[in-house]
Amino acid sequence: MSNIVAIVGRPNVGKSTLFNRLLEKREAIVDATAGVTRDRHYGKSDWNGVDFTVIDTGGYDVGSDDIFEEEIRKQVQLAVDEATSIIFMVNVEEGLQDIDHEIYNLLRKANKPLYLVVNKADSAKEELAATEFYQLGVEKYYTMSSATGSGTGELLDDLVADF
Ligand code: GDP
Ligand code: MG
Repeated sequence: MSNIVAIVGRPNVGKSTLFNRLLEKREAIVDATAGVTRDRHYGKSDWNGVDFTVIDTGGYDVGSDDIFEEEIRKQVQLAVDEATSIIFMVNVEEGLQDIDHEIYNLLRKANKPLYLVVNKADSAKEELAATEFYQLGVEKYYTMSSATGSGTGELLDDLVADF
C-alpha cells in the first residue's frame, strides 16, 4: 500500500513551499483529469529511502483574502479522504485563527496520523511564539521554517516511522 501525505491548512501558511521542498529535483505529477491539478498538486518524494506521495492542497490561494470557508472545507475533506497521513500547517506569523480551529475539527475526525506543523518559525523568537498553538491540543507538534528547510528532518523522521 502506498503512503500518501496531504499538506492542508489555510492560505499563505507555507504549504506549497514545503511541497516544493519535498519534491526537490523531482517532477510534480500532472493529472490528466480536468480540475484536479487546479485544486491539488501531487508529487513523489522520499525520506531515508522510504517513498511517499505528497498532495499540496489549495488552488484557491490566489487572492487569499476572500476565500470561502466552504472551499477550504471541501479541499480539506478531499485531502483527508485520499491521504494516509496529514500535515496540518499553521503559521506563527499570523498566529492561531478561527479557521485553524475549524480545519482541525475536520481533521481530528479522520483518525489518521496527524502532524501539526507551525511554519515560519525562522528564529528562536518565533519558536517561542509558536507555543500558542499548543492550545489546539495536537499531540504531534513541530516547528519549521519551510523557507530554509529547518525542522523538516524531525517531521519526516516521525512521519515515515509511522507508515
Ligand atoms: P500556501 O498558500 O500555504 O501554499 O503558502 P506558500 O507556500 O505559497 O507561501 C506563502 C508565503 O509565505 C510565500 O511568500 C512564502 O515565501 C512564504 N513562506 C513560506 N514558508 C516560509 C517560512 O518558513 N518563513 C517565512 N518567513 N516565509 C515563508
Ligand atoms: Mg499553495
